[in-house]
Order: sequence, then C-alpha cells, then structure tokens
Amino acid sequence: MSTERAKQLLAQATPNGECLECHMNKGAPYAKISAGSRGTTQLAHRFIYQALKGPIPEGLKILHSCDNSRCINPEHLIIGTQQDNMLDMIAKGRRGKVGGQSPRLLDAKDISKMLELHSANWSQREIAAVMNVSQRTIGKYLKEADHARRSAN
Ligand SMILES: [Zn+2]
Repeated sequence: MSTERAKQLLAQATPNGECLECHMNKGAPYAKISAGSRGTTQLAHRFIYQALKGPIPEGLKILHSCDNSRCINPEHLIIGTQQDNMLDMIAKGRRGKVGGQSPRLLDAKDISKMLELHSANWSQREIAAVMNVSQRTIGKYLKEADHARRSAN
C-alpha cells in the first residue's frame, strides 16, 4: 500500500536537476502528505524513506544529501549520520553526563537501536557517541550479538 503511494508521489514530483520535489503543503519548509486512514499527516521525505528504503531507527532524522528540503528522491535521503546531526546528539549525550550519569549497561531497547545503527553502517565510535557509552562497550555488545546470531543458525 504505502509503496504504491510512494511511487505515486514520486511520479507527481517535479524534477529539479537530480532532485524530485514534492510540492504538497506549499508554504511549509517540508512537504507533508496525508498518510494512513485516519487522515494523519506525515513528512513526505520520511514517508518515502520508510516506504521504499526501510524503517527509521527511533530518534533519528532523515536528512537530504542534496540540501533540498522538498526533495523526495529516495537516492538523496539518508539516515541522520551527517555531522551536524551527530554533533547535536553527542551534545545531548554530554549533557546527560553532566547530570552525573554513571557508565551503564545497554538494555534490550538500546541493543536493538545499536544493531540498527550498526546495520546502517555507523562506526562503533559513532554509535558509542550517540548512545553515551564507550566504544569498548559497543564493541563488546556487537561481538555478543554476532555470536548469538551465529549460534542461532
Ligand atoms: Zn534531492
């Protein structure tokens, strides 16, 4: 269903160089579309990403590699690994530390987020920075997850 809707949106988009611009919801910085049966609206580029490329890990943004906020070309949509977004998250992690957080273990939710980031080709260092743990911790959990996967097969 959503794949068809995504293709329809791409077919209606206006080409601009390599970009495909969606002009729904004119006047706002981002194109919004109505999605779902309950009349909810969604940012068009997030919708396209989810429909065509897969789920967006919790708390992450979809960024435009082309800097064109109306572009919905799936090739230009990337998960928020860009430096400014990274720095933002790292800054949030640092604020957490100021509050006196001690080193912590990852819970199941953290681990699934870590694995999502890992499969999105984030480095261990980047994952450690956004999750506010040491790179060594991430390395340890990734190794354990890998081991668990292997023995499950
Ligand atoms: Zn573009």
